[in-house]
This record gives sequence, structure tokens and C-alpha cells, in this order.
Amino acid sequence: MTEERYDVVVVGAGPAGSMAAWAAAREGCDVLVLERRAEIGVPKQCAEGISARGLKHAGIKPQDEWIANEVSRALIYAPNGERFEVPGDGYILERKLFDRWLAARAVDEGAELRLLAHARRALLEEGRVVGVEFEDEEGVHEVRAEVVIAADGIESRVGRSAGLVPPLEPEDLCTCAQYEMVGVDVEEDATHFFVDNETFPGGYFWVFPKGDGRANVGLGIRGSEAEPGLALELLDRAIREHELLSDVLEGAKPVELNVGGVPVCGPLGRTYDDGILVVGDAARQVNPITGGGLHTSLVCGRIAGEVAAEAASEEDPSAERLKEYQERWEEEFGRMFKLTRKASRALSNMSNDELNALAEALDQEDILKLVRGEGVARVAKKVVKRKPSLIKHVRHLIG
Ligand SMILES: Cc1cc2nc3c(=O)[nH]c(=O)nc-3n(C[C@H](O)[C@H](O)[C@H](O)COP(=O)(O)OP(=O)(O)OC[C@H]3O[C@@H](n4cnc5c(N)ncnc54)[C@H](O)[C@@H]3O)c2cc1C
Repeated sequence: MTEERYDVVVVGAGPAGSMAAWAAAREGCDVLVLERRAEIGVPKQCAEGISARGLKHAGIKPQDEWIANEVSRALIYAPNGERFEVPGDGYILERKLFDRWLAARAVDEGAELRLLAHARRALLEEGRVVGVEFEDEEGVHEVRAEVVIAADGIESRVGRSAGLVPPLEPEDLCTCAQYEMVGVDVEEDATHFFVDNETFPGGYFWVFPKGDGRANVGLGIRGSEAEPGLALELLDRAIREHELLSDVLEGAKPVELNVGGVPVCGPLGRTYDDGILVVGDAARQVNPITGGGLHTSLVCGRIAGEVAAEAASEEDPSAERLKEYQERWEEEFGRMFKLTRKASRALSNMSNDELNALAEALDQEDILKLVRGEGVARVAKKVVKRKPSLIKHVRHLIG
């Protein structure tokens, strides 16, 4: 067994890890990134949508090489087919190219990337994380670091072994199945969201167009409702039979199948400890209403990289020092996570009739507010005034 030493070791070269590695390397740190896959961004486990606002917030300028399509609105369909338009600029990415571009940017900044390097656990000494044990083709290695950043996705083996990441309960995640399809006949300047709790319990169906008839077509359902294989079965059935979808998807053909889980329980209460930070899906930093985690992973990744670099240069990787990471991401997203989590629970408990009634009570501004976790109490009061029968679902959002 060989042993090496770095200022910062990042586990996982997804959006959160590559942003963290880039930010730490930019601060002049020695950074090692461990990635278990042979190829960054493959397989894709994403519908690839991000708002223009989210990308800007992350400090990333849109690049032609990884943008498949630009959209200017979201179209949301209630169970009865009524459709709402919510304006907002955004992009459908090519995640395989985007993730690779982000990783290359970190490497250009000086980070070292090792592929096929599978982290097995955090190394602990006297209760402090001091490095990572990983395995590659040559065997098992230990690498020491002032700070370890666990950006190792929903399973977060490293976060779990450090005692920071508890197991996910089925109701804490959405199980997803998606095809990338060709021949999709849909308005391509919009993302499309189909809400229907009877057919897609606790989740929704999406069509995110990538241009020229190509689109990500998928669904997520609440994990507590999902038996093995059910998400894919519902996807196939909806494509064939759902009255709002079968016209749009008639003649469409899959060219890729993607499956994966999204944590929708809101972020971990604690994302730092002595010698370690947890970020992105590993920290469950995902908007529970939309299941979108790109914007938050990128911004939280940057913050994690900056704080880790400062702590490493001060030779103080204590939990007390690293707490700044949690304070900074909470300032950016804490309120949004809290309110969208509550609103998401309310939405998943509604029947289709109640969702239709809710849709009648809301205008596009209200929908935008709900999704962003802004002014939720005001929106809930308006719902109660217009549709008093919904009070049991939205009462907890008021006050
Ligand atoms: C079907 C689906 C659709 C989605 N659609 C959208 C969307 O349209 N918009 C949006 O914003 N979000 C979407 N999301 C969520 C989004 O994909 C994630 O939030 C985002 O990828 C999180 O980035 P991350 O870097 O935290 O994790 P990941 O992207 O999961 O990256 C983690 C990386 O760590 C590596 N890794 C894991 N374990 C180890 C280990 N032990 N050792 C070494 N490496 C390891 C993995 O190989 C991977 O490269 C979707 C998710 C799913 C499943």
C-alpha cells in the first residue's frame, strides 16, 4: 500500500466535485480528484436542464460546445391538461460534454484527476478525517489530505463512512427513468412538466427538448411508491397511452436509457466535520420540488473548494474552521431548501382534483415563487382564500 499527501482530495468528478476542485486549485492548493468512472459524465443521469440564472450564479459563461438548446419558458400541465406558462431563460445541456469541460477546467487550473479510482472510505484518526482509501487497477492506496471533499453523489460512500451522511429512506428520494428520444414533436423553446399524482405519484413527467426533435423524456416518482422497475414501466406506459403525451411522442424513438435517483428530502443538517466537507447530491443539496441539483451543486461546490483551500493554507481543517462552508451555502440556499421542501410535501399529498384546483388558484408568478421557495406563505394564503378546501395541505406553509 502506497501513501501520498495533498492539500485537498475531492471524491467524485461530477458538477459539485469539479467545481470544488477548480476553486481549490485556483486558490493555489495541491488538489487530487478521484473519479471511479473511466469517462467523466458517462452514463448521463440527468434531464440536463439548468436556468440561465443558475448558471450565472455559479459564475459559468454558457459555451456552445455543451449547450444543446436554449429555452425561454417552462410549460406546466395540470392533470386536467390545463397548461401554464412560466417565463424564464434556461438551457438544456449536453451533460457528458459539460461535466468533461468542468473537469478539464479544474485540471487546467492545476488539479490532478485520476480515473478508475474508486474511493472505499474516509480515513479516520482519533475521529478526524485525514484522507481517503481508494482502489485502482494497481491495488488499494491511502491518500492523506488536510481536507477531503465528498462530492461522490447520492450514495456518498465517503460521506457515509465519515458518519456525516445517513442512509436515504425511500420517501427521501425520487426514482427516475428517462429516454433520450428522437422524433419528438414538441415546442422546443420550452421545458414541459406534466403533473399527475395518480400516474406519476409524488413526482412528474418531463420533456426537455435538445433541438431537432431530440429530447430527454422521463419521469420521477416518490421512492416510497416505487417497486423495482416501476419507474421504467410507467415511463413506457405514459409514452404509449397518456392522453397529453401520446400525440407529442407518437413516432418518437429512444436512443438512450437513463435511470437514477434524486434526493428530494432537502440538505443534510450538517455538511462538515473535522477534515471533511460534503457537497452536491451527497449532501442532498437538491431543490425538492423540481429535483434540480445542478445549480446548487455548482454553487455549493465552489464554496466548498474555496473554504477547503483557505482552511488547508491555514493548516486548520477543524470542524470549527470548516463550518464557514455550511454558513455560506445556507446563506445562498438555506431558505429556498426549507420552503421548497415543505411545499414539495404538500404537492405530493394532493389528489389530481386538488392539483387541478391548485392550478386554478395560482398564476405564473405564484408558480415561479413556489419553485424558487420565495414568498411561499403569501402564495399559500392566496390558495386558501381561493380554494378553502386545500387548507389541510397548505396550512403549514403559512406563518
Ligand atoms: C434522471 C435524472 C434527471 C435529472 N435532471 C436534472 C435536471 O434536468 N436539472 C438539474 O439541475 N438536475 C437534474 N438532476 C439532478 C442532477 O443530475 C444532480 O443533482 C447533479 O448531477 C449532482 O451533481 P453531483 O456532482 O453532486 O453528483 P453526480 O453528478 O452524481 O457526480 C458524482 C460523481 O462521483 C463519482 N463517484 C461516486 N462514488 C465514487 C467513489 N466511491 N469514488 C470515486 N468516485 C465516485 C461518480 O462516478 C460521479 O462522477 C437529475 C437527476 C436524475 C437522476
